[in-house]
Amino acid sequence: MSFILTEQLAPVRLKLVRDRTRMLKQGYPWIYRDWLKELPAAPPGSRAVVWDKDDKLLAFGMYDPAGPLAVRVCGVDGEKLNDDLIAARFEAAISLRRGVFDQFSDAPTNGYRLFNGEGDGLPGLTCDLYADHAVLKLDGDAPAAFWNVDAVGKWLTERLAVTNVFLKHRSTAETRGRAVIGDVPTEPVEFMENGLRFIANLVDGQKTGFFFDQRDNRRRIGELANGRSVLNLFAYTGGFSVYAGANSATHVTSVDLAKPAMEDARKNWLMNGLPEDRHQAIAMDAFQFLEEARAAKREWDLVVVDPPSFAPAARHVEKATASYQALFTSALGVVAAGGIVALSSCSSHISSEMFFELTEAAVSKARRRATVLGVYGQPADHPFPLACRELQYLKFILLQVR
Ligand code: SAH
Repeated sequence: MSFILTEQLAPVRLKLVRDRTRMLKQGYPWIYRDWLKELPAAPPGSRAVVWDKDDKLLAFGMYDPAGPLAVRVCGVDGEKLNDDLIAARFEAAISLRRGVFDQFSDAPTNGYRLFNGEGDGLPGLTCDLYADHAVLKLDGDAPAAFWNVDAVGKWLTERLAVTNVFLKHRSTAETRGRAVIGDVPTEPVEFMENGLRFIANLVDGQKTGFFFDQRDNRRRIGELANGRSVLNLFAYTGGFSVYAGANSATHVTSVDLAKPAMEDARKNWLMNGLPEDRHQAIAMDAFQFLEEARAAKREWDLVVVDPPSFAPAARHVEKATASYQALFTSALGVVAAGGIVALSSCSSHISSEMFFELTEAAVSKARRRATVLGVYGQPADHPFPLACRELQYLKFILLQVR
Protein backbone atom coordinates (compact mmCIF):
# COMPACT_ATOMS: atom_id res chain seq x y z
CA MET A 1 0.00 0.00 0.00
CA SER A 2 1.60 3.25 -1.16
CA PHE A 3 1.49 6.50 0.82
CA ILE A 4 0.59 8.19 -2.47
CA LEU A 5 -2.94 7.70 -3.83
CA THR A 6 -1.98 9.06 -7.26
CA GLU A 7 1.07 6.82 -7.56
CA GLN A 8 -0.27 5.09 -10.68
CA LEU A 9 -0.92 8.33 -12.58
CA ALA A 10 1.72 9.74 -14.91
CA PRO A 11 3.37 12.83 -13.36
CA VAL A 12 2.31 16.20 -14.77
CA ARG A 13 5.13 18.08 -16.54
CA LEU A 14 5.29 21.80 -15.76
CA LYS A 15 7.52 24.69 -16.73
CA LEU A 16 8.26 27.90 -14.84
CA VAL A 17 8.03 31.22 -16.66
CA ARG A 18 9.66 33.11 -13.78
CA ASP A 19 13.04 32.62 -12.26
CA ARG A 20 12.30 31.13 -8.88
CA THR A 21 15.21 28.68 -8.83
CA ARG A 22 17.03 30.20 -5.85
CA MET A 23 13.91 30.49 -3.74
CA LEU A 24 12.81 26.94 -4.42
CA LYS A 25 16.28 25.55 -3.84
CA GLN A 26 16.35 27.32 -0.49
CA GLY A 27 13.19 25.51 0.50
CA TYR A 28 10.28 27.74 -0.46
CA PRO A 29 7.45 25.16 -0.49
CA TRP A 30 4.97 26.53 -3.03
CA ILE A 31 4.69 27.31 -6.75
CA TYR A 32 1.89 29.73 -7.55
CA ARG A 33 -0.19 29.26 -10.68
CA ASP A 34 1.08 32.44 -12.33
CA TRP A 35 4.68 31.22 -12.10
CA LEU A 36 3.86 28.48 -14.59
CA LYS A 37 3.67 28.52 -18.35
CA GLU A 38 0.67 26.21 -18.58
CA LEU A 39 -1.64 24.42 -16.22
CA PRO A 40 -2.44 21.15 -17.96
CA ALA A 41 -5.65 19.31 -17.07
CA ALA A 42 -4.91 16.57 -14.53
CA PRO A 43 -6.52 15.30 -11.34
CA PRO A 44 -5.65 17.31 -8.20
CA GLY A 45 -3.01 15.55 -6.14
CA SER A 46 -1.19 14.23 -9.21
CA ARG A 47 2.57 14.19 -8.88
CA ALA A 48 4.24 17.07 -10.69
CA VAL A 49 7.71 17.54 -12.14
CA VAL A 50 8.81 21.14 -12.68
CA TRP A 51 11.45 22.48 -15.10
CA ASP A 52 12.98 25.91 -14.74
CA LYS A 53 13.04 28.66 -17.39
CA ASP A 54 16.17 27.16 -18.93
CA ASP A 55 14.68 23.67 -19.17
CA LYS A 56 16.65 22.29 -16.24
CA LEU A 57 14.85 19.85 -13.98
CA LEU A 58 14.17 21.80 -10.79
CA ALA A 59 11.51 20.47 -8.44
CA PHE A 60 8.80 17.93 -7.86
CA GLY A 61 5.66 17.90 -5.78
CA MET A 62 1.90 17.57 -5.83
CA TYR A 63 -0.29 19.34 -8.37
CA ASP A 64 -3.45 21.35 -7.96
CA PRO A 65 -4.81 22.61 -11.31
CA ALA A 66 -7.52 24.75 -9.65
CA GLY A 67 -6.09 26.43 -6.52
CA PRO A 68 -3.71 29.39 -6.20
CA LEU A 69 -0.91 27.00 -5.12
CA ALA A 70 -0.41 25.02 -8.33
CA VAL A 71 2.37 22.90 -6.83
CA ARG A 72 3.23 22.03 -3.27
CA VAL A 73 6.89 21.27 -3.54
CA CYS A 74 8.16 18.03 -2.00
CA GLY A 75 11.78 18.45 -3.06
CA VAL A 76 14.30 19.74 -5.56
CA ASP A 77 17.09 18.35 -7.75
CA GLY A 78 17.53 14.65 -8.23
CA GLU A 79 15.26 13.29 -5.49
CA LYS A 80 12.19 11.27 -6.48
CA LEU A 81 8.74 11.51 -4.98
CA ASN A 82 8.08 7.94 -3.88
CA ASP A 83 7.35 5.93 -0.74
CA ASP A 84 11.02 5.75 0.26
CA LEU A 85 11.31 9.51 0.30
CA ILE A 86 8.11 9.86 2.32
CA ALA A 87 9.14 7.17 4.82
CA ALA A 88 12.46 9.01 5.27
CA ARG A 89 10.57 12.26 5.96
CA PHE A 90 8.37 10.45 8.51
CA GLU A 91 11.49 9.13 10.24
CA ALA A 92 13.10 12.57 10.27
CA ALA A 93 9.93 14.01 11.83
CA ILE A 94 10.02 11.37 14.57
CA SER A 95 13.68 11.91 15.37
CA LEU A 96 13.17 15.68 15.61
CA ARG A 97 10.42 15.14 18.21
CA ARG A 98 12.43 12.51 20.06
CA GLY A 99 15.09 15.16 20.55
CA VAL A 100 12.55 17.67 21.85
CA PHE A 101 10.34 15.50 24.06
CA ASP A 102 12.38 13.32 26.36
CA GLN A 103 10.02 10.53 27.37
CA PHE A 104 12.06 9.81 30.50
CA SER A 105 11.85 13.39 31.71
CA ASP A 106 10.12 13.94 35.04
CA ALA A 107 7.71 16.29 33.26
CA PRO A 108 6.80 14.15 30.23
CA THR A 109 4.92 15.24 27.11
CA ASN A 110 3.03 12.72 25.02
CA GLY A 111 0.70 15.10 23.21
CA TYR A 112 2.38 16.97 20.37
CA ARG A 113 2.46 17.56 16.63
CA LEU A 114 4.30 14.75 14.85
CA PHE A 115 3.92 15.97 11.25
CA ASN A 116 3.67 19.66 10.51
CA GLY A 117 2.99 19.66 6.77
CA GLU A 118 5.46 21.77 4.76
CA GLY A 119 7.68 22.21 7.83
CA ASP A 120 8.44 18.49 7.78
CA GLY A 121 8.58 18.20 3.99
CA LEU A 122 5.12 16.63 4.00
CA PRO A 123 2.94 19.20 2.23
CA GLY A 124 -0.61 19.50 3.51
CA LEU A 125 -0.31 16.62 6.00
CA THR A 126 -0.68 17.21 9.73
CA CYS A 127 -0.56 14.57 12.42
CA ASP A 128 -1.13 15.32 16.09
CA LEU A 129 -0.44 12.66 18.71
CA TYR A 130 -2.46 12.32 21.92
CA ALA A 131 -0.78 9.45 23.81
CA ASP A 132 -1.78 6.39 21.73
CA HIS A 133 -4.20 8.34 19.51
CA ALA A 134 -3.22 10.04 16.25
CA VAL A 135 -5.31 12.68 14.48
CA LEU A 136 -4.59 13.36 10.81
CA LYS A 137 -5.63 16.46 8.90
CA LEU A 138 -5.29 17.26 5.21
CA ASP A 139 -5.00 20.87 4.20
CA GLY A 140 -6.60 21.37 0.74
CA ASP A 141 -7.86 19.44 -2.26
CA ALA A 142 -4.48 18.35 -3.63
CA PRO A 143 -3.23 16.91 -0.29
CA ALA A 144 -6.62 15.19 0.21
CA ALA A 145 -6.26 13.51 -3.20
CA PHE A 146 -2.54 12.76 -2.74
CA TRP A 147 -2.13 11.33 0.75
CA ASN A 148 -3.24 7.77 1.36
CA VAL A 149 -4.33 8.16 4.98
CA ASP A 150 -4.90 4.41 5.36
CA ALA A 151 -1.25 3.76 4.54
CA VAL A 152 -0.08 6.61 6.78
CA GLY A 153 -2.27 5.27 9.60
CA LYS A 154 -0.91 1.75 9.20
CA TRP A 155 2.65 3.08 9.27
CA LEU A 156 1.93 5.02 12.49
CA THR A 157 0.62 1.91 14.25
CA GLU A 158 3.61 -0.14 13.13
CA ARG A 159 6.24 2.45 13.93
CA LEU A 160 4.88 4.08 17.12
CA ALA A 161 2.74 3.06 20.08
CA VAL A 162 -0.36 4.30 18.24
CA THR A 163 -3.54 2.20 18.39
CA ASN A 164 -6.11 4.62 17.07
CA VAL A 165 -5.99 6.90 14.00
CA PHE A 166 -8.70 9.45 13.25
CA LEU A 167 -8.90 11.58 10.11
CA LYS A 168 -10.32 14.95 11.04
CA HIS A 169 -12.15 16.86 8.31
CA ARG A 170 -11.94 20.60 7.83
CA SER A 171 -14.36 22.56 10.02
CA THR A 172 -16.47 23.39 6.96
CA ALA A 173 -17.08 19.70 6.16
CA GLU A 174 -20.39 18.00 6.89
CA THR A 175 -18.95 15.24 9.04
CA ARG A 176 -16.28 15.65 11.70
CA GLY A 177 -14.06 12.93 10.26
CA ARG A 178 -13.62 9.17 9.99
CA ALA A 179 -11.83 6.41 11.85
CA VAL A 180 -8.81 5.24 9.86
CA ILE A 181 -7.68 2.67 12.45
CA GLY A 182 -9.71 1.64 15.51
CA ASP A 183 -12.98 3.34 16.46
CA VAL A 184 -14.08 6.94 16.26
CA PRO A 185 -12.69 8.41 19.52
CA THR A 186 -16.00 9.61 20.95
CA GLU A 187 -14.64 9.63 24.54
CA PRO A 188 -12.16 12.32 25.64
CA VAL A 189 -8.53 11.20 25.34
CA GLU A 190 -6.04 11.83 28.15
CA PHE A 191 -2.46 12.96 27.52
CA MET A 192 0.40 14.76 29.27
CA GLU A 193 2.06 18.06 28.54
CA ASN A 194 5.14 18.98 30.57
CA GLY A 195 3.95 16.62 33.28
CA LEU A 196 0.47 18.17 33.49
CA ARG A 197 -2.63 16.13 32.67
CA PHE A 198 -5.18 17.10 30.06
CA ILE A 199 -8.15 15.65 28.23
CA ALA A 200 -9.04 16.49 24.65
CA ASN A 201 -12.11 15.81 22.56
CA LEU A 202 -10.60 14.74 19.27
CA VAL A 203 -13.92 14.60 17.37
CA ASP A 204 -15.89 17.59 18.68
CA GLY A 205 -13.05 19.75 19.98
CA GLN A 206 -11.49 22.62 18.03
CA LYS A 207 -8.64 21.89 15.60
CA THR A 208 -7.49 18.33 16.37
CA GLY A 209 -8.60 18.71 20.02
CA PHE A 210 -5.90 20.86 21.64
CA PHE A 211 -3.66 23.79 20.73
CA PHE A 212 -0.23 22.20 21.00
CA ASP A 213 1.36 25.27 19.43
CA GLN A 214 1.14 27.28 22.68
CA ARG A 215 2.95 24.63 24.78
CA ASP A 216 6.20 26.55 25.29
CA ASN A 217 4.28 29.77 25.92
CA ARG A 218 2.09 28.02 28.48
CA ARG A 219 5.27 26.99 30.29
CA ARG A 220 6.43 30.62 30.22
CA ILE A 221 3.14 31.75 31.74
CA GLY A 222 3.55 29.06 34.40
CA GLU A 223 6.98 30.48 35.27
CA LEU A 224 5.46 33.92 35.87
CA ALA A 225 2.33 32.82 37.74
CA ASN A 226 3.61 32.37 41.29
CA GLY A 227 1.66 34.59 43.68
CA ARG A 228 -0.23 36.34 40.88
CA SER A 229 -3.91 36.55 40.04
CA VAL A 230 -4.43 35.40 36.46
CA LEU A 231 -7.00 36.16 33.76
CA ASN A 232 -6.94 33.76 30.80
CA LEU A 233 -8.99 35.13 27.90
CA PHE A 234 -9.93 32.83 25.00
CA ALA A 235 -8.94 30.02 27.32
CA TYR A 236 -10.37 27.07 25.33
CA THR A 237 -9.91 24.06 27.66
CA GLY A 238 -7.77 26.00 30.12
CA GLY A 239 -4.24 25.18 28.97
CA PHE A 240 -2.69 28.41 30.27
CA SER A 241 -4.94 28.27 33.35
CA VAL A 242 -3.69 24.84 34.45
CA TYR A 243 -0.05 25.90 34.07
CA ALA A 244 -0.74 29.02 36.13
CA GLY A 245 -2.59 27.03 38.79
CA ALA A 246 0.12 24.38 39.00
CA ASN A 247 2.67 27.15 39.53
CA SER A 248 0.91 28.74 42.52
CA ALA A 249 -1.21 31.47 40.97
CA THR A 250 -3.43 32.86 43.72
CA HIS A 251 -6.54 32.60 41.53
CA VAL A 252 -7.27 31.96 37.85
CA THR A 253 -10.24 33.18 35.80
CA SER A 254 -10.76 31.42 32.44
CA VAL A 255 -13.05 32.97 29.82
CA ASP A 256 -14.17 31.39 26.56
CA LEU A 257 -17.29 31.63 24.43
CA ALA A 258 -17.49 27.85 24.03
CA LYS A 259 -19.41 26.21 26.89
CA PRO A 260 -18.03 22.67 26.33
CA ALA A 261 -14.49 24.11 26.37
CA MET A 262 -15.18 25.76 29.74
CA GLU A 263 -16.49 22.46 31.12
CA ASP A 264 -13.27 20.77 30.01
CA ALA A 265 -11.24 23.62 31.51
CA ARG A 266 -12.84 22.80 34.88
CA LYS A 267 -12.05 19.11 34.41
CA ASN A 268 -8.45 19.79 33.40
CA TRP A 269 -7.97 21.98 36.45
CA LEU A 270 -9.30 19.32 38.84
CA MET A 271 -7.44 16.47 37.09
CA ASN A 272 -4.21 18.15 38.16
CA GLY A 273 -5.27 18.18 41.79
CA LEU A 274 -5.69 21.96 41.89
CA PRO A 275 -8.03 23.52 44.49
CA GLU A 276 -11.49 24.08 43.06
CA ASP A 277 -11.96 27.45 44.76
CA ARG A 278 -8.96 28.94 42.97
CA HIS A 279 -10.45 28.64 39.49
CA GLN A 280 -13.44 30.20 37.83
CA ALA A 281 -14.39 29.21 34.26
CA ILE A 282 -16.82 31.61 32.60
CA ALA A 283 -18.52 30.81 29.27
CA MET A 284 -18.86 34.30 27.83
CA ASP A 285 -17.80 36.63 25.06
CA ALA A 286 -14.33 37.93 26.00
CA PHE A 287 -14.98 41.41 24.63
CA GLN A 288 -18.08 41.75 26.80
CA PHE A 289 -16.24 40.28 29.80
CA LEU A 290 -13.54 42.93 29.44
CA GLU A 291 -16.08 45.72 29.21
CA GLU A 292 -17.80 44.60 32.38
CA ALA A 293 -14.51 44.00 34.20
CA ARG A 294 -13.32 47.48 33.31
CA ALA A 295 -16.58 49.05 34.40
CA ALA A 296 -16.21 47.21 37.73
CA LYS A 297 -12.54 48.35 37.91
CA ARG A 298 -11.32 44.76 38.24
CA GLU A 299 -7.63 44.01 37.71
CA TRP A 300 -5.37 41.00 37.39
CA ASP A 301 -1.60 40.62 37.83
CA LEU A 302 -1.18 38.42 34.76
CA VAL A 303 -3.48 38.51 31.73
CA VAL A 304 -3.28 36.12 28.77
CA VAL A 305 -4.99 37.08 25.50
CA ASP A 306 -4.97 34.30 22.90
CA PRO A 307 -7.78 35.04 20.43
CA PRO A 308 -8.71 32.97 17.37
CA SER A 309 -7.37 34.18 14.02
CA PHE A 310 -9.09 37.44 13.07
CA ALA A 311 -7.55 37.27 9.57
CA PRO A 312 -8.27 33.89 8.00
CA ALA A 313 -7.44 35.37 4.57
CA ALA A 314 -5.14 38.12 3.33
CA ARG A 315 -8.07 40.39 2.43
CA HIS A 316 -9.09 40.53 6.12
CA VAL A 317 -5.78 41.97 7.31
CA GLU A 318 -6.83 45.58 7.72
CA LYS A 319 -9.98 44.80 9.66
CA ALA A 320 -8.14 42.15 11.70
CA THR A 321 -5.38 44.57 12.68
CA ALA A 322 -7.99 46.98 14.01
CA SER A 323 -9.74 44.17 15.92
CA TYR A 324 -6.53 42.91 17.55
CA GLN A 325 -5.61 46.44 18.49
CA ALA A 326 -9.01 47.14 20.05
CA LEU A 327 -8.97 43.85 21.94
CA PHE A 328 -5.44 44.37 23.25
CA THR A 329 -6.24 47.95 24.28
CA SER A 330 -9.22 46.71 26.22
CA ALA A 331 -7.22 43.88 27.84
CA LEU A 332 -4.49 46.32 28.90
CA GLY A 333 -7.19 48.12 30.87
CA VAL A 334 -7.50 45.25 33.34
CA VAL A 335 -3.78 44.67 33.97
CA ALA A 336 -2.69 45.79 37.43
CA ALA A 337 0.14 48.33 37.69
CA GLY A 338 3.41 46.42 37.30
CA GLY A 339 1.47 43.44 36.01
CA ILE A 340 2.16 41.29 32.99
CA VAL A 341 0.17 40.77 29.83
CA ALA A 342 0.71 38.12 27.14
CA LEU A 343 -0.65 39.05 23.72
CA SER A 344 -0.88 36.51 20.93
CA SER A 345 -2.00 36.11 17.33
CA CYS A 346 -2.15 32.91 15.32
CA SER A 347 -2.89 34.61 12.00
CA SER A 348 -0.23 33.95 9.35
CA HIS A 349 -1.37 37.09 7.54
CA ILE A 350 -0.27 39.30 10.46
CA SER A 351 3.52 39.50 10.27
CA SER A 352 5.75 39.84 13.35
CA GLU A 353 6.40 43.44 12.31
CA MET A 354 2.70 44.23 12.05
CA PHE A 355 2.09 42.50 15.36
CA PHE A 356 4.71 44.66 17.09
CA GLU A 357 3.21 47.79 15.60
CA LEU A 358 -0.34 47.02 16.61
CA THR A 359 0.83 46.06 20.11
CA GLU A 360 2.60 49.41 20.40
CA ALA A 361 -0.51 51.21 19.22
CA ALA A 362 -2.66 49.31 21.72
CA VAL A 363 -0.36 50.17 24.65
CA SER A 364 -0.37 53.82 23.65
CA LYS A 365 -4.16 53.89 23.20
CA ALA A 366 -4.55 52.30 26.64
CA ARG A 367 -2.34 55.09 28.04
CA ARG A 368 0.08 52.57 29.49
CA ARG A 369 3.80 52.01 29.17
CA ALA A 370 5.32 48.64 28.62
CA THR A 371 8.62 46.83 28.54
CA VAL A 372 9.10 43.62 26.58
CA LEU A 373 9.92 40.52 28.63
CA GLY A 374 10.05 38.22 25.64
CA VAL A 375 8.96 37.66 22.07
CA TYR A 376 8.11 34.12 21.10
CA GLY A 377 6.49 32.04 18.42
CA GLN A 378 5.65 28.44 17.75
CA PRO A 379 7.46 25.47 19.32
CA ALA A 380 9.86 22.99 17.70
CA ASP A 381 7.14 20.48 16.83
CA HIS A 382 5.69 23.18 14.53
CA PRO A 383 8.75 23.75 12.30
CA PHE A 384 8.64 25.82 9.11
CA PRO A 385 11.09 26.26 6.22
CA LEU A 386 13.41 29.23 6.77
CA ALA A 387 12.60 30.34 3.23
CA CYS A 388 8.91 30.65 4.09
CA ARG A 389 8.28 33.20 6.81
CA GLU A 390 4.52 33.01 6.09
CA LEU A 391 4.52 29.70 7.92
CA GLN A 392 5.70 31.34 11.13
CA TYR A 393 2.12 32.07 12.06
CA LEU A 394 2.23 32.25 15.86
CA LYS A 395 3.18 35.48 17.61
CA PHE A 396 3.39 35.80 21.40
CA ILE A 397 4.70 38.80 23.27
CA LEU A 398 5.13 39.18 27.02
CA LEU A 399 4.92 42.72 28.38
CA GLN A 400 5.31 44.22 31.79
CA VAL A 401 2.90 47.10 32.06
CA ARG A 402 3.12 50.28 34.07
N1 SAH B 1 -5.49 29.61 24.65
C1 SAH B 1 -6.08 28.35 24.20
C2 SAH B 1 -6.39 28.35 22.71
C3 SAH B 1 -7.33 29.44 22.28
S1 SAH B 1 -8.04 29.23 20.70
C4 SAH B 1 -5.15 27.20 24.58
O1 SAH B 1 -4.02 27.43 25.06
O2 SAH B 1 -5.55 26.05 24.43
C5 SAH B 1 -9.21 30.52 20.64
C6 SAH B 1 -10.43 30.34 21.54
O3 SAH B 1 -11.21 31.52 21.45
C7 SAH B 1 -11.37 29.21 21.18
O4 SAH B 1 -11.48 28.34 22.27
C8 SAH B 1 -12.73 29.89 20.92
O5 SAH B 1 -13.82 29.16 21.45
C9 SAH B 1 -12.57 31.18 21.65
N2 SAH B 1 -13.37 32.32 21.19
C10 SAH B 1 -13.65 32.73 19.93
N3 SAH B 1 -14.32 33.88 19.94
C11 SAH B 1 -14.47 34.25 21.24
C12 SAH B 1 -15.07 35.36 21.91
N4 SAH B 1 -15.65 36.35 21.21
N5 SAH B 1 -15.03 35.41 23.25
C13 SAH B 1 -14.45 34.41 23.97
N6 SAH B 1 -13.86 33.33 23.38
C14 SAH B 1 -13.89 33.24 22.04
